[in-house]
Amino acid sequence: MAFGTFFLPGPTEVRRDVLEAMLQPMLPHRGAVFEQLFARVQSGLKPIFRTQRPVYVSSSSATGLMEAAIRCARPGAILCLVNGAFSERFANIAHSCGRESTVIGGDWTRPVSLDAVESALKAKSYAALTVVHSETSTGTLTSLPELTQLAHRYDCAVLVDSVTGLAGVPVETDAWDLDFVLTGSQKALALPPGLAFGVASERFIATAGEAIGRGLYYDLVEFEQYIHKNQTPNTPALSLLYATAVQGEHIARETIERRWERHTQMAEHTYSWVHELRQRVGEPFGVYAPDEHRSHTVTAVTVPPALNADAIVKAVAKRGFVIGGGYGKLKSTTFRIGHMGDHTMEGLEAVLEATAEGIEELLAV
Ligand SMILES: *Cc1c(COP(=O)(O)O)cnc(C)c1O
Repeated sequence: MAFGTFFLPGPTEVRRDVLEAMLQPMLPHRGAVFEQLFARVQSGLKPIFRTQRPVYVSSSSATGLMEAAIRCARPGAILCLVNGAFSERFANIAHSCGRESTVIGGDWTRPVSLDAVESALKAKSYAALTVVHSETSTGTLTSLPELTQLAHRYDCAVLVDSVTGLAGVPVETDAWDLDFVLTGSQKALALPPGLAFGVASERFIATAGEAIGRGLYYDLVEFEQYIHKNQTPNTPALSLLYATAVQGEHIARETIERRWERHTQMAEHTYSWVHELRQRVGEPFGVYAPDEHRSHTVTAVTVPPALNADAIVKAVAKRGFVIGGGYGKLKSTTFRIGHMGDHTMEGLEAVLEATAEGIEELLAV
């Protein structure tokens, strides 16, 4: 099938040559050929994370590295900023790993305010806070630089889920001094599902060894030891690494700055489409996220009471395009367009037109 029909906010559409890269033969993962492949993966990923630090590669989905972040944070309580389904998941992970944790926020319509964070940090000492950069359930972006500066004033590490941020919107791991930032392969990186990537600051990894109960599979101290040999602690998902090496080279050719810019254009086009849709069909569709806090990789569109999100997704599917339904408590009241990864303006225009036609069809009956 031609590229440009699959607009889920994850997994995202993968280019054919990236898929084909996975047809290469198996290799011993303790040997020079593998180490060269892993070095290629590193050279592709570091500029995407904007870091000089190594990029850990976990053969798991992104949730695995969310757990690693919690398990390897130095001993102490965790402050969890919640403004959607994935930040709620991060809080649940902290709780289920047996960490003392406090949840703040809870309002899905906006990022947690810096004031709320500062009050919490003043009231109690925290080893780390969790934050979701781009909330895929709502399309909301939380700004990281001020938040990180604030947390560091209180000696609190910042653990960032940028699963639908990284490779689509700016992430400056080193310049913003993020303690740990993670993503999954199947979102804005436009790779198949199955790998997670993360970067720990030197400060974070230096204290990670103090954390008790780190377990084995998600022990970042081990990842750090092996990465200096261009290896992973356990058998990596080798086929996906072939794909990652090729995709890293594609992204380098595009340049990360132009990739961010393409996502900005796709997002702005989607917002104006929602505005036009209101006029075209005379129903109050809207962008769920407030306009000053929107993620450029995913848009959650609110569905007026006359319609239901699931029916819209099905009407669009009949036209040959895949879009996402709502997530969590927004399941039937929003649908989501994942305009991230390798999509183009041309492809986006086609899916948006198919969506408008599907909605018109539903309103006509
Ligand atoms: C998709 C997603 C996850 C979970 O990723 P898995 O790869 O399914 O574990 C976590 N956080 C955010 C923001 C996501 O979009």
